[in-house]
Amino acid sequence: MQIEMCPSSGPQSAVSTLLGAHNVHAQYALVAMSLAASSLGTTRPTTLASRRANPVSARINVARVCAKSRARARTTTMAAAVPIMVNDLTGKMGRAVADAVVARGADVCYLVPVAFSGEAKDPVSVGDVTVDIKSIRDGDPGAIIKSLKSEHPGLIVVDYTLPAAVNANAALYVANDQPFVMGTTGGDREKLLKDVTDAKLPAVIAPQMGKQVVAFQAAMKLMATNFPGAFKGYTLTVTESHQSSKVDTSGTAKAIVESFNELGCGFDIADAVLVRDVPTQIAPIPTGMGVPEEHILGHAFHTYKLTSPDNTVSFEFQHNVCGRSIYAEGSVDAALFLSDKVGDGCDSEDCEAGKTLFDMIDVLKEGGMVTN
Ligand code: NAD
Repeated sequence: MQIEMCPSSGPQSAVSTLLGAHNVHAQYALVAMSLAASSLGTTRPTTLASRRANPVSARINVARVCAKSRARARTTTMAAAVPIMVNDLTGKMGRAVADAVVARGADVCYLVPVAFSGEAKDPVSVGDVTVDIKSIRDGDPGAIIKSLKSEHPGLIVVDYTLPAAVNANAALYVANDQPFVMGTTGGDREKLLKDVTDAKLPAVIAPQMGKQVVAFQAAMKLMATNFPGAFKGYTLTVTESHQSSKVDTSGTAKAIVESFNELGCGFDIADAVLVRDVPTQIAPIPTGMGVPEEHILGHAFHTYKLTSPDNTVSFEFQHNVCGRSIYAEGSVDAALFLSDKVGDGCDSEDCEAGKTLFDMIDVLKEGGMVTN
């Protein structure tokens, strides 16, 4: 299985070689994906298949199947556009999310012309919106949120700041009863989840907003749960490449390796190869990672290779992401999902059960795989 979000500059994908040699590879991936879909309790494969075959009629189907969801019906009805505040849109991820909000279309959502940063900065233009950048530390940020809420009913905040800011920012949102999407990683996660749960504040919190990567992670988890030990005796190698400023092992790799270990691999995550030097990143596969040069400063490439004890069978899984758009698009989907939960259109089982804390699996379950 290979998930590439950008063209690999390698001369040849090792996966396609494997597909030629072992058809079981492709079938296995299909089994995993179909398990994932059935376990997530969704009819998406059929809907998506028909959407591909006839995008227009499929779009109508989507609206019909999901008639209860304002988010998904938004493309065909006149639901109010969702106001989204992005903190901090002077950062790399914040800017990508702000661009994605504007690109999604004013009938779906719009960018609120105020954002918090660590300090006050010059205004920033995103599309035709000029955003005032205010300090979250000075003055009265709570009063600013209150005033934005009354000016932009249904306000949703998306937070991409710094690990050190996670808990303080969440405390600000909680204190002002402000629903938010937290894409920022790090901080005291236990405290974050507890504070938000205790407050019963609607929030989507996920360290990985790339929906398709999350779906792949879920599929691997389901495969492990359904077929424990299926790869017993196989040798696993894990190679991941990120921008050189990232010192730790990717959290996504850790989660996927957990599933491989449940499948019988016995891999120590400390043995994962972290590629951080640019020449190796740029070099074509198989000697390098095949990262396009323009994405050296923002990419997330992962390869997991399984080899049978007698070396006659091998499997290779890849997810290669260039840039930030996959996370930005997922964040906008999460914000629209949250708006649906907050608004009076909420009639899902989650709402009835009083669930207010969500992750990207929840977003995916409600059809978040469809990206406009
Ligand atoms: P960045 O350094 O480019 O931007 C961070 C911005 O936050 C800076 O502009 C900084 O001035 C500002 N800031 C600092 N303290 C603040 C505060 N208290 N309130 C508001 N703003 C504050 O970083 P980035 O690359 O945009 O990454 C941001 C976060 O997003 C990181 O934690 C990163 O790991 C995470 N991330 C998550 C995902 C995901 O899918 N969830 C994807 C990519 C990155």
